[in-house]
Amino acid sequence: MNSFLQPRYIRVHKNDNVAVVVNQGGLPAGSRFACGLVLTEMIPETHKVALADLAEGDAIVRYGVVIGHAKRAIQRGNWVHEGLVSLPDAPPLADCPLATAVPKTLPKLDGFTFEGFRNIDGSVGTRNILGISTTVQCVAATVAYAVRRIKAEMLPHYPNVDDVIAITHPYGCGVAIDAPGAAVPIRTLRNLSLHPNLGGELLLVSLGCEKLQPERLMPSGTLPVLNEESSLAVMQDAQQGFGEIVDTIMTLAERKLKKLNERRRISCPASDLVVGLQCGGSDALSGVTANPAVGFTADLLVRAGATVMFSEVTEVRDAAHLLTARAATPEIAQDLVREMAWFDEYLHAGGADRAANPTPGNKKGGLANVVEKAMGSIAKAGSTALMGVAGPGQRVTQKGLVFAATPASDFICGTLQLAASMNMHIFTTGRGTPYGLAMAPVIKVSTNSGLATRWSDLIDVDAGKIATSEATIEEVGWEIFRLILEVASGCKETWADHWGLHNDLVLFNPGPVT
Ligand code: CA
Repeated sequence: MNSFLQPRYIRVHKNDNVAVVVNQGGLPAGSRFACGLVLTEMIPETHKVALADLAEGDAIVRYGVVIGHAKRAIQRGNWVHEGLVSLPDAPPLADCPLATAVPKTLPKLDGFTFEGFRNIDGSVGTRNILGISTTVQCVAATVAYAVRRIKAEMLPHYPNVDDVIAITHPYGCGVAIDAPGAAVPIRTLRNLSLHPNLGGELLLVSLGCEKLQPERLMPSGTLPVLNEESSLAVMQDAQQGFGEIVDTIMTLAERKLKKLNERRRISCPASDLVVGLQCGGSDALSGVTANPAVGFTADLLVRAGATVMFSEVTEVRDAAHLLTARAATPEIAQDLVREMAWFDEYLHAGGADRAANPTPGNKKGGLANVVEKAMGSIAKAGSTALMGVAGPGQRVTQKGLVFAATPASDFICGTLQLAASMNMHIFTTGRGTPYGLAMAPVIKVSTNSGLATRWSDLIDVDAGKIATSEATIEEVGWEIFRLILEVASGCKETWADHWGLHNDLVLFNPGPVT
């Protein structure tokens, strides 16, 4: 029998009393593993099998941690589906250990570079894009119209400019702009406009009567050029018709295109990378294949001096005590506790809790609950010390491993990571998603080879090779690291960029709408 057809499971930790079936298509009842274990019922691919008899109330252990308790007696060889697993309480934030298990600094990794666009503020772009920002949704369609024409009529004359994008959003008016929560969407929009891939050539379009006035979005000092006529178009002040207003936007855009077109890629150390990590459409293999491989990549990046950002508060909440212990200082650990506590409160105020995650797709993929999802999710963060914590939409300037607090929603997380100045994005997926962003390249990593085969023209890296023993975590980690350098240099295209699959920016607005 072909070794890939033999019943196989992956047990992550020696204390685990469940393991994950990795055979494509799952396994029928009666399947016998090499260890002698026989399945009592059919188990779908990436779902869990009981390795021991469990009584009602017994702890179910995966990743060496309790992911829940048995709701009823479970027999060895049974399918341990989500209906059998109760959700344990979240680790209390007040008891989190602060910087008690700080990992040793790993050896430096020298000599890795990429070709990027260096900006005046020291940041580095992996793309050379003209971004047109907006203060309010009212002008979004106008800017989208102008961008269509700029791309068709002007962009072909500026071959060194990669793209023209509209930074549009539903914010700006009809919102409680002085509420504490408003700080999040406003700083997100400000930092998106200052993204390293936009080359510091800000162009802003405003309606005129909106709550989010241009000076509020970009206070003086944020970007001095905003006060110049050449960077701001206010529709209601123009005393012109629509056609002339569009002409004005296009004239301003052409000046920016001329400047951007003069830029050239130069050799930059890998330390100029700001890599955002995310997962979406996770399954039970996420924590076994793709996320550990990305964790190895994260360690390589940190060793090379880069910034690596992980996020998604609800997906790390159940591992908070492990991450605070890993913080480089007690202050950084406290910052993490503060962000977790803020989100607990935010969910509570909305009448929800962390059980709102995982999704139906996650559960279909074998994840019983958010604890199991969290343990798999934090594998992405590798093994280095936590060097910093940023609030939602704040720009990250710290090198090393940083937690940028965001919701787990793919689009909101991606938008907030862009605001944090992410210039490369790694996205792991088990169920599959065609996710992509216009502002920074997205490398998609599949957790299983079935997905990578079905979606060979959407998935950039197959980490499922780890489950079939065709590659090691380290090998896939290096593959992702090298691909990051190639894509960052503009030498290689991701599938999402190839097809132009660019999801909308989605703001996180914890403030009230009026
Ligand atoms: Ca996500």
